[in-house]
Amino acid sequence: MMNKQEVLSILEQYGLSATKSLGQNFLCNEDVIERILDLAEISDQTHVLEIGPGIGALSENAVKSAKKYVAVEIDTTFQPRLEAVIEASGGRVIYKDYLAFDTSELEESEMPEVVISNLPYYVMTPIMLKVMADFPNLRKMVYMVEEEAEARIFAKAGTKQYGPLSVLTDLRGKKSKCFTVDRGSFVPSPNTTSSVITIECEQGGRWDKEWIRFVESAFALRRKTLVNSLSSSGFKKEDVTAALAGIGKPANVRAEQLEPTDFVEIYDFLNGKDGE
Ligand code: SAM
Repeated sequence: MMNKQEVLSILEQYGLSATKSLGQNFLCNEDVIERILDLAEISDQTHVLEIGPGIGALSENAVKSAKKYVAVEIDTTFQPRLEAVIEASGGRVIYKDYLAFDTSELEESEMPEVVISNLPYYVMTPIMLKVMADFPNLRKMVYMVEEEAEARIFAKAGTKQYGPLSVLTDLRGKKSKCFTVDRGSFVPSPNTTSSVITIECEQGGRWDKEWIRFVESAFALRRKTLVNSLSSSGFKKEDVTAALAGIGKPANVRAEQLEPTDFVEIYDFLNGKDGE
């Protein structure tokens, strides 16, 4: 039973403490843990990847339910605890910054269908974007994010928060806001309320680094036109202008005025896939 007392006693037992710069806020609310695991729908057929297991609040039960369980954790001080929680139950932990992790480090049989993470907030966006590029065949993502990030993920075109994360998560599948989590559910408490979200992934479509970089580049110079933003990342101005004309948009449109599907059409046009 993970509660505040239990988290503190595990930290003491293993001589650990939370490192703020690594976004370490450990879950200490059993009800929240159970609800997250319910959303992940892990069965004895499921291959799971967890990013940032920490002291194993989510891992402890998930590793027992899953067919394959791999976790990527940056902080090696958790190793003795994670050996007892994950490795003793047949899972594997890779000690690495997820942003430096390469999918070739996984066996074919370890490729995940489900990714779960109580995300370290300082690096939330790059991790979410990298998961999309790393695992194009995922079935589901279940994430704990901070409230401000939830607003960016669910933002609509034309709003201030609308950006690459809104566009890419929108195209990746069906996204849902599941429930909010108060600050007291973590040790130590973060500065903001958190929120659990899921993305049920659609299969197919392009999910690689180039596509993700394209959408990021489109928003790189937010106040400038799309043409200027993309040309500063190496795309030819005349090609972007032609792509916009092709989808009936003015040459001076800004990225934040475009719907997610517009980005797909522009990208296809720039890659010569128009009309295929
Ligand atoms: N899953 C645990 C829980 O729910 O209690 C811990 C969550 S804590 C918010 C974030 C975790 O991500 C920490 O264990 C932290 O060390 C780890 N982490 C931070 N940056 C990371 C990175 N770049 N790659 C992998 N893990 C990272």
